[in-house]
Amino acid sequence: MSFTTLGLSAPILKAVQESGYTEPTPIQKQAIPVVLEKRDLLAGAQTGTGKTAGFTLPLLELLSQQKPPKGKKRVRALILTPTRELAAQVGESVRTYGKYLPFTSTVIFGGVGINPQKNILKKGVDIVIATPGRLLDLVGQKALDLSHVETLILDEADRMLDMGFIHDIKKILALLPKKRQNLLFSATFSKEIKKLSDGLLHHPALIEVARQNSASEQVEQMIYPVDKSRKRELIIHLIKSNDWKQVLIFTRTKHGANKLSEQLNKQNIHAAAIHGNKSQGARTKALADFKSGAVRVLVATDIAARGIDIDQLPHVVNFELPNVPEDYVHRIGRTGRAGHEGEAASLVSIDEADLLKNIEKLIKRKLPRTIVEGFKPDPTIKAEKAPARGQRRGGQRPQRRRQRA
Ligand code: AMP
Repeated sequence: MSFTTLGLSAPILKAVQESGYTEPTPIQKQAIPVVLEKRDLLAGAQTGTGKTAGFTLPLLELLSQQKPPKGKKRVRALILTPTRELAAQVGESVRTYGKYLPFTSTVIFGGVGINPQKNILKKGVDIVIATPGRLLDLVGQKALDLSHVETLILDEADRMLDMGFIHDIKKILALLPKKRQNLLFSATFSKEIKKLSDGLLHHPALIEVARQNSASEQVEQMIYPVDKSRKRELIIHLIKSNDWKQVLIFTRTKHGANKLSEQLNKQNIHAAAIHGNKSQGARTKALADFKSGAVRVLVATDIAARGIDIDQLPHVVNFELPNVPEDYVHRIGRTGRAGHEGEAASLVSIDEADLLKNIEKLIKRKLPRTIVEGFKPDPTIKAEKAPARGQRRGGQRPQRRRQRA
């Protein structure tokens, strides 16, 4: 099956062809016709499935089929994402696939000056890709009018709820015209997502690619049991002995990310850390250096890593297991993307036995264990009490976390 049978017109097909895609991915095959019928959609798809093109291509097609309103450009499509990185990447896709169309788009997120964003909006744009907080700020300052939006897309909706954006989302919904098309993409389906979609979507088509909550099949997953105090040594050993060239490492805390990155650098393994305390400029630079290969290891916290899209990222490492099992699925989804093979390694100490059990329950698989020579866990070490589910947010109110992504 090729893209030509999906109902997309020539300017879009040309841009797709130039991206080097020959065949639509399963989510694209299913989502594109549904969106073109102007139906609402509830799609279960994690990153790496090609979901971005799955909504961007038909969105562009629909916009080009309808006559634009006369006069100044109005915002006709709104794409909401949980993080700045994801917003930037979706914005990039919109530009890439829409390069032979006359539409203008802009990406809006916090942590950078608001005035340049206001100036762009003043000139008029067709498509806005935004994180919720800054979007509302701009509406509050009368710099943005959402009353002509024809299509609303919530990307990574589960993550938006995790990050406490539900109130912002509700406020945004109230600003949109009643009659519109709604698309909701989520990697996982919790009760909260069902509640949100019930209130938002009208007779939606339901599409799910890969099994619900299943870890990407392309990813080879390995557990390395090790004592907590020796994890640093082990990760250095793994990187050096396997000659891993591009590794994304997840840590639970920002402090942990900084510390590990420093220690890797001391061992001549060029590393950078990204997390919410870093400026947007520093984060963008670290990501660019990592993509280009100038930096070999990127150490990240979960939220900072959301939406990082690196083609052919070969290695993801969990330096610590996440407290919420769904985060494991999100993390390993960074590798093995779009048909490429990837490896996900998790360093697991005895404290994390319960977390591992929950992950295996979620993905319905027991993961293989390998004890690396010289790193056999000390059997006399007993587990410390693992942090309970729900404590990972440090007890802070979710709304306050918004700026920390
Ligand atoms: P996404 O799930 O949207 O984050 O996309 C994951 C990756 O797959 C991105 O790097 C896309 O460039 C790539 N991709 C999207 N659609 C296709 C396709 N039809 N064929 C090959 N690669 C694709």
